[in-house]
Amino acid sequence: MAEKKILIVDDEEGIRLLYKEELEEEGYAVELAASGEEALKALKKEHVDLVLLDIKMPGMDGVEVLRRVKEKWKDMPVVLCTAYPHYKQDFGTWASDAYIVKSSNLKELKDTVSKILKKAS
Ligand SMILES: [Mg+2]
Repeated sequence: MAEKKILIVDDEEGIRLLYKEELEEEGYAVELAASGEEALKALKKEHVDLVLLDIKMPGMDGVEVLRRVKEKWKDMPVVLCTAYPHYKQDFGTWASDAYIVKSSNLKELKDTVSKILKKAS
C-alpha cells in the first residue's frame, strides 16, 4: 500500500515542522503549506489524502480554506487544528471531518488522522 500523504497548513513554522516530524514518524508522507493560498495551490498540483488545517492564519483563514477545499474536492478529509476551542461553535467548522485543539500532546492528532485515513482506504 502506498503511503498516505498529508498536507499540513499552518502559518507557524514551528508547528509545521513539529507535525511533519511526528507524522513522518508514523509513516505518512507530508507536504507543507504556510498559508491557505499555498495549500490550494498544492492541492491542485498533487494528490493529497488528508488536509491538516490551522484556523488562525493571516490572509485566508482556515474556515475559508475549508470552504474552498470542500467546494472543489468534496470528499477530501479535512482536520481543523486550533489553539482556540471556541471555534467549534462556528458554523464554518461544521464541514470539517474532525476538530482538534492544539496541545503539546499529539496523540489525539495522530489518532484522529489514523482513524480517518483507515476509513478512507
Ligand atoms: Mg495560526
